[in-house]
Amino acid sequence: MSVVPEATASGTAPSVEPQPQNLLPTPARSPSAAGTLTAAPSWWVRSADLQKQAVARAARPDYDAWLAHVKPASACVRPVRLAGTIATIEAATGRLLAERATADMPDGVIYKPCGNRRESVCPSCSKLYQRDAYQVVRSGLIGGKGVPEQVAHHPAVFPTFTAPGFGEVHTRAVKRHTCTRRTDCDCRPEPCHARRDISVCPHGVRLVCFARHAATDRNLGTPLCLDCYDHDAQAVWNLSAGELWRRTTIAVNRYVRRLCRARGIPYVAKVSGNGKVRMVPPVRLSFGKAAEMQRRGVVHFHAIVRLDGLDPTDPAAIVAPPAGIDAADLVDAIDHAARTVSFATEPHPAAPGGWRIGWGEQVLTKVITVAGAGEVTDAQVAAYLAKYATKSTEVTGHASTRLTDETVNVYADPDGTHTERLVEACWILGRPREWRRLRRWAHMLGFGGHFLTKSRRYSITFALLRHNRVVFRRTETAGPDAGEPVAEPTTLVVNFLEFVGSGWRTPADAMLANTSSALARDHQQAARQYLTTTAA
Ligand SMILES: [Zn+2]
Ligand SMILES: [Zn+2]
Ligand SMILES: [Zn+2]
Ligand SMILES: [Zn+2]
Repeated sequence: MSVVPEATASGTAPSVEPQPQNLLPTPARSPSAAGTLTAAPSWWVRSADLQKQAVARAARPDYDAWLAHVKPASACVRPVRLAGTIATIEAATGRLLAERATADMPDGVIYKPCGNRRESVCPSCSKLYQRDAYQVVRSGLIGGKGVPEQVAHHPAVFPTFTAPGFGEVHTRAVKRHTCTRRTDCDCRPEPCHARRDISVCPHGVRLVCFARHAATDRNLGTPLCLDCYDHDAQAVWNLSAGELWRRTTIAVNRYVRRLCRARGIPYVAKVSGNGKVRMVPPVRLSFGKAAEMQRRGVVHFHAIVRLDGLDPTDPAAIVAPPAGIDAADLVDAIDHAARTVSFATEPHPAAPGGWRIGWGEQVLTKVITVAGAGEVTDAQVAAYLAKYATKSTEVTGHASTRLTDETVNVYADPDGTHTERLVEACWILGRPREWRRLRRWAHMLGFGGHFLTKSRRYSITFALLRHNRVVFRRTETAGPDAGEPVAEPTTLVVNFLEFVGSGWRTPADAMLANTSSALARDHQQAARQYLTTTAA
């Protein structure tokens, strides 16, 4: 029973809807079961007791069919239930080849995985998203899946952009790591804020901390003095991080183009949209980035910057960059942009001059190599970015859905904890109409961007991977969304499906489905292990 995944984000528990009437097998539908279960008292089947619910489900004659039917969504915490018909149509003529109604399927619905990217919401769906993210990022570094393989030879770097400080926070700094895995690091860190002088802030707090914080210490990322900390500026910084990133990419581009001119790399003639011909440097930068929410509640960006060439006759093509610009130049361009790009936000009643938005001190740029001889490999970078793509604000201790006037008081408090004050800052500063976005993203501590983004020509899309998976599943297995096999592209599958609800019907359904998927996974793993040992 512990197999049911626990969701930490609110509103994501397995559904506890009232028991549907049709759970009892009716004699018409399944004659063989007539007289077996219908004899049971209705309270027994409708019970809120998990075990009784489970027995009621498992005792049904269509239990095996139900398990097979929910298989595509069986590991999901909160699948979507859809009802309607699925039609298979001949593409050339529009002729209806086959039609299946969900009414004839177990429960009368199709179960579709929720597809949430957040690990704290749905561990199973986020795993899939993470694998897709890995493929998207990695294809941009080594090619494949439609990306030319020569991108592996393009200079690429892996910078990390951090936010500036908004006040002193408890930190864990390790001078030299001796741990094997950085995720469960137990190295001896430096003292947090060791100071000889007795500096006391205006609120009477001594700004020292001699603790050597463990990696799991909940104090990490929280301010030494909550009242000194500039929560307003941090909330606005989170909100403006996307714009700062945009300006940074422009600055990096400019720097590289200037470099082309200085080094005498010949320009190419490019025809722009309105037919004008312009001479441009034959380079283009492709970007990918993942946002990571730090413990102090501010985002920082892990980015990939790849240098491409420019084919003036085919702007969509990914071609080799000109010789004469290398990864070291990209590092310089990024350092230059990180140092110089900064801007002031629109004025706000609380800050008539606006807030100044720029990067923090530590921008760390590593050179990516495919062979593994550089500072960091393509696989490491892809795994790193994919991991952050499934995270959100969990690390700060705050996890909620979008906030409203009714719910904000649960999470915001001007005299509360660090994150409560951040939410409060978003809410208060978001009062003027032009600043409403702060309220909209208060549950993200102000950050309104996507956690994984890439420029158009960096790599393949998530949509392509999802499409490939659907085609693969339809042609390989006979799952519920299979219908007729569609191996040849001459047939189309058209869904006329309606949203019925989300979540499992009962906690027992969730438990049974999740257990079956966990068993299937174990079985697969055991089989794989057996095969590898046999091969060895
Ligand atoms: Zn899910
Ligand atoms: Zn400390
Ligand atoms: Zn360590
Ligand atoms: Zn203070």
